[in-house]
Amino acid sequence: NEDLEHKVEERTVELNRANTELRDRVGELVQMENWRKKWFTHISHDLKTPAAVAKGFIDAILDGKIPDDQTGKYLIKVTERIQTINRLVRDLNDLSLLETGQIRIQPERHDAGPFFRRLIAKWTDPISLGGRAIIVEENGQSAQILADPHYIGRAVNNIIENAVKYSPSDSTVTVSIDHEPDRVVFRVIDQGAGIPAESLPYVFDSFYRVDKSRNSSIPGSGLGLSIAREIVRLHGGDIGVELNAGHGCTFLIALPVDGSEEA
Ligand code: ADP
Repeated sequence: NEDLEHKVEERTVELNRANTELRDRVGELVQMENWRKKWFTHISHDLKTPAAVAKGFIDAILDGKIPDDQTGKYLIKVTERIQTINRLVRDLNDLSLLETGQIRIQPERHDAGPFFRRLIAKWTDPISLGGRAIIVEENGQSAQILADPHYIGRAVNNIIENAVKYSPSDSTVTVSIDHEPDRVVFRVIDQGAGIPAESLPYVFDSFYRVDKSRNSSIPGSGLGLSIAREIVRLHGGDIGVELNAGHGCTFLIALPVDGSEEA
């Protein structure tokens, strides 16, 4: 009898465990399904809005509601909306390829200081910064890193573009390259409004935009930082954000120093 009781007890424990595992799995699937639905809602909304606005402008021109001397101005607005759609489709495609491992990065050995300086060269032109000043600082002895210039260039671009988009036109963007013993840290420090502390953990998530940005006229898909994070992850590096003591925030990309023999 005792033997039977023991077996029943054992079976009950096993069943409970299986039950818990099943519940966890169902929970995960429900979460994934919710996530998928949210993605589709975001994508369709973000594509529908510019398409509807562009169509509205074209209809107004075709219906003769726009004076002839104004059509050029409206066609430029149509082009801008088409560019928004193109950018979103490109970013979605790139993010999906990166996340599913379909993009192979081709890391090459580079001297970190000159490497990052080359990537930011186009931003030292005052026009690309919309009047903002740029300061470039470099500290420490430059070391070798393994990096794919195309993709790290993309990540660097995305964070500088954000620093420009989200800060006033009379402010300064500081770029610093710090050579630490094991890693090189590339920082972009802006003097914008910063990011609410409660939003910080989410800024690298796909489609996440701080409410203020979402409701503003500043264009964006909410994918730039997710793409940057995937690229940095593929390089075995870290990406992060910190709030500055005064105004604005600092985004950083840290890449490991290549300590191999050849370096
Ligand atoms: P977006 O295309 O909207 O700029 P990102 O993925 O690049 O998308 O950034 C996500 C969100 O993080 C932005 O919408 C914005 O709210 C916030 N953000 C990113 N960089 C900055 C910054 N330098 N200053 C303030 N907010 C920022």
